[in-house]
Amino acid sequence: MAKKGAARKDVPTAPKGMRDIVGNEHHKYQGFFEKASEVALYYGFQPIELPMLEREDVFLSTNSEDTDLVGKEMYTLKTKGGDKLALRPEGTAPAMRAYLEHGMQSQPQPIKLYYYGSFFRHDNPQRGRYREFRQFGIEMIGSPKSVSDAMVIYLTAMILSDVGLKNIVIDVNSIGDKDSRVPYLRELTQYYRKHINHLCANCRERIKTNPLRLLDCKNPECQPYKEKAPQSIAHLSLASKAHFKEVLEYLDALKLNYRINPYLVRGLDYYTHTVFEIVEVPDAKIPDAPAENTTQLEETVEEKGKRTAKDEREAAANAPLALAGGGRYDYLAKRLGSKKDVPAVGASIGVDRVLMSQNYKAVTPRIVKKPKIYFIQLGFEAKLKSLEIIEVLRSARIPVAHSLNRDSLSGQLGTAEKLEIPYAIIFGQKEALDGTVIVRNMLTRSQDTVKVAKLADYIKNIK
Ligand code: AMP
Repeated sequence: MAKKGAARKDVPTAPKGMRDIVGNEHHKYQGFFEKASEVALYYGFQPIELPMLEREDVFLSTNSEDTDLVGKEMYTLKTKGGDKLALRPEGTAPAMRAYLEHGMQSQPQPIKLYYYGSFFRHDNPQRGRYREFRQFGIEMIGSPKSVSDAMVIYLTAMILSDVGLKNIVIDVNSIGDKDSRVPYLRELTQYYRKHINHLCANCRERIKTNPLRLLDCKNPECQPYKEKAPQSIAHLSLASKAHFKEVLEYLDALKLNYRINPYLVRGLDYYTHTVFEIVEVPDAKIPDAPAENTTQLEETVEEKGKRTAKDEREAAANAPLALAGGGRYDYLAKRLGSKKDVPAVGASIGVDRVLMSQNYKAVTPRIVKKPKIYFIQLGFEAKLKSLEIIEVLRSARIPVAHSLNRDSLSGQLGTAEKLEIPYAIIFGQKEALDGTVIVRNMLTRSQDTVKVAKLADYIKNIK
């Protein structure tokens, strides 16, 4: 006999890093998506359903080869017609593809979209990291304004706090625009070249291919060099600095708990200006409150960066998982072939990780109703007509539970009691012949005989 819990050898299992989501767990996901959609709709976002597969180019053209997402993590396939497609690893590039494809530039800007569903990355499965995972994403396309960055960050934080998450901290950074990036990358590369012999193999490669990602390295041997590395916030162009300052002003005004994290660059290439990630931390680790006013902020942008370097090292040991991330991506549209740049900002929430939080308060999906009635049938005559009675209740939108496979009265009553359902309908041979049912109050045990034709009204009128 097979060991308990072990799958039989000849039964296939779900692919590594992917899983079935069944029953209550499914409701948890659905409840989250409903809640998040409600918040997004409230703020004027409209739903978009993106295909699971995109042309590989949508991702290849938007990222340099060194991004993990393109280098190793993308699931790709060739269709029978020879097209190269990829299972979507993220939603931002597809959303921008849809915006351009449907000429949404000609509508009033910005276009605000939300979407949710599965995304796929061929990564090593570990805590909070799957190969198929679910994201809820929001994108605000066509606005260069700092208020859009703030709104996206705020909305993301509000969705997380609406589902019960506590002690949410927003890590925020600015990686600037083109004018900031060129001199900054030159300095960063020069700095790292001096230490090249002490860096991990990945970082040595990144110096050539994608120097910004040197700051993303989690390898302990690279940490001391990362801490002393030049920081992007110290190299912002005037325009980038003004944009970032405004974003921080909004975050202050909105009383969001944030900290400037100079190492935050995010894995994808197309980000500009604001980048952010949201984590949930234990009480003790809540960082200092944001600076009180912007003058102070202006003076401390660089100092704050230095202070957080130490915090970062302390936190690195058991860093909390990022629950959401996002940023501005003003150059993505051109990479997808648009003649003009389209300023945009977005975020995505890692729903699997949110549901793993101890503080997550499951939201019941609207279609799931607590049963008001437990339907009990006795004898073959009654069983034959059971579905008709259940349908009378369903079409009157009265939530009903039942187990037609069971036969005994006591067993069925026991289940009704266990589920704490307030009323039972008892439907036996006699009732089946008379066209009636017995409605039993499970608390007082009082019973009424009711005509099937009057059943829905009767139940709607009981308190
Ligand atoms: P990204 O698209 O990489 O910015 O990811 C946004 C959020 O999705 C992250 O903050 C995570 O919460 C979640 N996420 C990303 N990759 C995975 C994964 N492989 N498994 C589970 N969640 C993920």
